[in-house]
Amino acid sequence: MAQLQAVRGTQDLLPAEARRHRTVIETARKIAERYGFGEIATPIFEFTEVFSRPIGETTDVVSKEMYTFKDRGGEEITLRPEYTAGIARAVLSNGLTQATPLKFFGAGPMFRYERPQKGRYRQFHQIDAELIGAAQPQADVEVIAMGAAILDELGVLKSCRLELNTLGDTESRTAYRAALVEYFTRHLDKLSDDSRDRLGRNPLRILDSKDEGDKAIVADAPAFSAYLTDPAKAFFDEVKRGLDALDIAYELNPRLVRGLDYYCHTAFEFITTELGSQGTVLGGGRYDGLMAMMGGPALPAVGWAGGIERLSMLIAEPPAPARPIAVIPVGEAAELEALKLTQRLRGLGHVVDLGYSGNVGKRMKRADKIEARVALVLGEDELARGAVTFRDLDAGSQEEVPLDGLAERLKGLA
Ligand code: ATP
Ligand code: MG
Repeated sequence: MAQLQAVRGTQDLLPAEARRHRTVIETARKIAERYGFGEIATPIFEFTEVFSRPIGETTDVVSKEMYTFKDRGGEEITLRPEYTAGIARAVLSNGLTQATPLKFFGAGPMFRYERPQKGRYRQFHQIDAELIGAAQPQADVEVIAMGAAILDELGVLKSCRLELNTLGDTESRTAYRAALVEYFTRHLDKLSDDSRDRLGRNPLRILDSKDEGDKAIVADAPAFSAYLTDPAKAFFDEVKRGLDALDIAYELNPRLVRGLDYYCHTAFEFITTELGSQGTVLGGGRYDGLMAMMGGPALPAVGWAGGIERLSMLIAEPPAPARPIAVIPVGEAAELEALKLTQRLRGLGHVVDLGYSGNVGKRMKRADKIEARVALVLGEDELARGAVTFRDLDAGSQEEVPLDGLAERLKGLA
């Protein structure tokens, strides 16, 4: 029955996978705090215009990937495909533009109607960092350094390379765009339909094409470096100098562009060798034009987003939660006492599992299955003596422990 399946491109996070996601988010949040980034949570849906205006009608995200619908009041609503525009909207709606620089960290689900494959989903999750109101190249350096520190703390930096490029200023991009249009027009017959479509609207996007035929043509396309203005070059040099000073290794990739339209100057991606073609785990850049495009003051900004699904595939198994104590009542009379004991132990901070039915044998099997450390068996005899049978499931030994000595006995467990 189709209705009982999760929608294509979405997935359930069962406990083990949810724990990996949580590890990624908590690690990122901890490092982000060190860098002075406060946590922000914006709505999962916004008015469509929040995304369509700044992200640009010409990008794949807006033209093909957005989940857009009319709500019951007739409003045009879109499930957020990325964090940046929502955060920029929040800065404007909350009147925060005087308090710059603003540093925000966020994590949560994003929605894009894409072709699902390993590492690419329709509902996926991102960690995100935005530094708004800083024009200095040091801001780019810090934002990249924070991304590297998070990847390092997650243990995945060593399998990643950092690719770096500049998209220059408006003047550089205008000149480069003209050169690209000229070049790709000469190879029009060999371009994919998608890229032919992009040529008129956003030729830079062709450089980011995943189509093999396009890639071959892109390989010989003119490089941006020849079209950079002196100020754009100087900005890029400062970014590189800062990264060098922090010993953050990078490779220059003149073909690196960001998927969204509002980027300028610095563009970067951390790419792992371990996930094939979905190898970009964290990417971002500078977006000085965004706030003005959204109707706010011209506030320069730089940020990144990281894919939690991709990162959680790369991290080591997070430490398992504490092993539970299984409480096992024997006979009707003990049920209520077992419930009370369970509650008391949880109050002391223990992880306690109470099976709800079955004989002692069946409940002991469950204790094994959940890898309980200890089973506490409460029968009528023990209760009469104010005690429990304490089974150390690792040692395979058992002893009787008085209820008032139980907390102490549990403390002694390895
Ligand atoms: P790609 O080129 O892979 O489509 P993108 O440029 O669209 O990436 P961004 O918008 O920069 O990606 O998103 C940042 C990160 O979010 C990506 O590097 C990736 O790790 C993750 N990501 C993007 N789209 C998806 C998706 N559909 N499923 C899972 N993760 C994704
Ligand atoms: Mg994409």
